[in-house]
Amino acid sequence: MGQSIIIVGAGIIGAALAFQLSRQGAKVTVFESATPAHAASGRSFGWINASFYANPAHHRLRVAGMQAWHRLAAAVPAAAPNWQGCLWWEQQGVGMDQMQSDLAALGYPVDRLPQSELAALEPDLPHLPLHALRFATEAAVDPAAATLALLAASGATLHPGLAATSLIQTAGHVTGIRTAIGPFKADHVILATGTATPGLLAPLGFDLPMLTRPGVLLHTRPVPFHLRHIIVTPEQEIRQDAAGRLLAPASAHHQADSAETVPDPEGAVAATLDRLRALFAADIALDRFTIGHRPVPGDGLPVIGAASPGLSLAVMHSGVTLAAITAEALAGEIIGQGDNPLLTDFRPSRLLRARD
Ligand SMILES: Cc1cc2nc3c(=O)[nH]c(=O)nc-3n(C[C@H](O)[C@H](O)[C@H](O)COP(=O)(O)OP(=O)(O)OC[C@H]3O[C@@H](n4cnc5c(N)ncnc54)[C@H](O)[C@@H]3O)c2cc1C
Repeated sequence: MGQSIIIVGAGIIGAALAFQLSRQGAKVTVFESATPAHAASGRSFGWINASFYANPAHHRLRVAGMQAWHRLAAAVPAAAPNWQGCLWWEQQGVGMDQMQSDLAALGYPVDRLPQSELAALEPDLPHLPLHALRFATEAAVDPAAATLALLAASGATLHPGLAATSLIQTAGHVTGIRTAIGPFKADHVILATGTATPGLLAPLGFDLPMLTRPGVLLHTRPVPFHLRHIIVTPEQEIRQDAAGRLLAPASAHHQADSAETVPDPEGAVAATLDRLRALFAADIALDRFTIGHRPVPGDGLPVIGAASPGLSLAVMHSGVTLAAITAEALAGEIIGQGDNPLLTDFRPSRLLRARD
């Protein structure tokens, strides 16, 4: 048997890590203070893309993330995304030109379609723009269902409802966790704890700055038409799930949303629903909405890798896009395959500070 590994947190990141580490021979135990995917991963839009990015290294990681999802889906079909592609018309004119040329320069598949072609691709959409960009390789997944499928496929031991109350550190080496039912030891501990990560690091003397980024996501009742792509309008990102429901974040370009509060979630949901009704010229009913907290490290970029001996971190926004590559790369590093260059710009050391 390989190393014993404790993963704290059963969101999409912890679940993907559990799967990759288990299949490489590690003995994995997952601790989840509530239920799998109850936090950000159960309140996420689930878009897998690299058309949103902060810099070229981030774009590279996201492209690798999309490729890694294909490998993960081949291994765990129940977690497979829908590779439906995206149609983007958040901006027309210069903004669209810039988006297209920037992505083309990075080698990303992007083409521009006129309204006549869009009408053939989305026959149920009554209001179409003059042009849209198509990102044909993008996908969406149900992150909660994928989390459960990955945990089941991993064969890892799962302790739902059991929080890690603190980390055990012996002579500078993290050797396990404390819980309400006693300590658990392991060769390595991974924190896949999203927004709760700073609280677990503080007693070790580390500050991990995080941004506060709540996001509202609405789900409609099933609609009697078919939206084939993920679409990005000037006000709205929208996709349809397998049951026919529309999903839409209540803020425009939600991946870059920088609001720290949601002062009026009901108002935001009502306004979003009105926009959906106008866009589809249909009477669309609300099913439910959620408020989730995106785990966004202080500089907006992922934090992946060793934090101190025996301890690794995997904390990020766009964690749905990045779950498969994070799990492949970090699992490889933990089992001794050496540093993965994809992670160079995303190490914890750039943000972690010793507490005064
Ligand atoms: C509205 C919204 C829309 C989004 N849209 C997208 C999108 O389209 N594409 C994309 O890629 N990303 C998107 N994201 C971001 C993405 O959902 C997150 O980055 C991802 O879900 C993070 O997964 P995670 O496993 O790291 O964290 P989480 O899903 O938050 O899981 C962390 C888990 O750790 C557990 N935990 C915490 N502390 C402890 C403890 N002490 N002991 C045991 N367990 C603990 C929690 O209970 C939780 O289950 C969106 C997020 C939101 C909120």
